[in-house]
Amino acid sequence: MSKKTFEEVANYVEFQSQHKCKVLSAKPEQTFNDLGVKVTVWNVKTDTDGSWWVVEGDTVPMNLYSQDAFYFGTDEVYSFHMGIIERMKASAYNPEDYVNAVTLETDIAPQLFRKLKSIAKLIDSTVEIEDFQSVGVQCREVLIDLGNSIYFAEMAGENEQPQASNFKRKAELFIQFYLAGSDNSDYRSIIKKLTESTWDYSNKLTHSHNATFYEASTCVSLCTSLVGAYENIRQKVFDPISQYKCKTCTSKKLEIVDDEVGEDGIVKKLFLQCEECSDITEIIFK
Ligand SMILES: [Zn+2]
Repeated sequence: MSKKTFEEVANYVEFQSQHKCKVLSAKPEQTFNDLGVKVTVWNVKTDTDGSWWVVEGDTVPMNLYSQDAFYFGTDEVYSFHMGIIERMKASAYNPEDYVNAVTLETDIAPQLFRKLKSIAKLIDSTVEIEDFQSVGVQCREVLIDLGNSIYFAEMAGENEQPQASNFKRKAELFIQFYLAGSDNSDYRSIIKKLTESTWDYSNKLTHSHNATFYEASTCVSLCTSLVGAYENIRQKVFDPISQYKCKTCTSKKLEIVDDEVGEDGIVKKLFLQCEECSDITEIIFK
C-alpha cells in the first residue's frame, strides 16, 4: 500500500498548481520497490490544469510531473524522479567544498586544510554538548597549528620568543612583521580583532555547558575564515605587484613583462604592462 492518502496527493497537486485547479481523480498507478524503497506513482487528473504524475515514497520527497509536457509513463517518471533524488544526494554537504567556499578557494597549507576539513565534517554530526566542546578543542588546535605555520623566529626581532602554543602572540608578531605601515592600519586592526575573538571563542566553546549547534557552527566559520585571512596575508606579501595599478588608466590588470636586477642579485625595477591600455608602468625598489 502507498503511504500517502488520496487527500494528501490531491492537496499537494492543488497547492502546487499555478491555475487554482481542482483534482477530479487521483489513483496509485504503479508501485516500485526495486531500489529498496517503496515508491508510488499516482495518476492525477484535474479540471483546469491537465493531468499529472505524482511520485512519492517512504524516504523520497514528493514531486509532480505534467503528463502533458512529459510524454512518459509510470516507469519513466519513476526512473526520472529517482535519478534526480540520487543526484541531490550526491551534491549534499561536502566538508571540502565548505572550506573552499568560506576561504574563497584560497590556497591553504595542506596540514591546515586537512584539519579544517575534519572540523567541517565533525560539525555536521554534532548533537551533544560534548560534541560542541570537541569542536572548540579542534578549532583551538587548528589555531595553534596556524600560529606555528605562519611564524618564524626572526619575526620576534628584539622581543622574547613566544611559547610554542602561544597562537595570539605569534599571530601578533606575524602581523607586525608583514603588515607594517599606515597603508595597512585598517587591515592590521581587523585581523587583530578577528584573531583575538576567534581564539577566545574557541576556548569558551571548549568549556561551554550551554552551547548549541549554532555557537559551534559560528566557531567553525570564524576559525575557517581566520585561516583563510592569514593565508591571504601571506599571499599579499609574496605577490610583489598586488599593490600597484596602471599609471595611465589605473587598472589593476598588470603583468610583469621585464625586470632589472642589480649586481647584488636583487630586483631593482619591474616593468608592468597594462592589459587594458598596454602602457608600461615602472616600479623602482629602493
Ligand atoms: Zn592602463
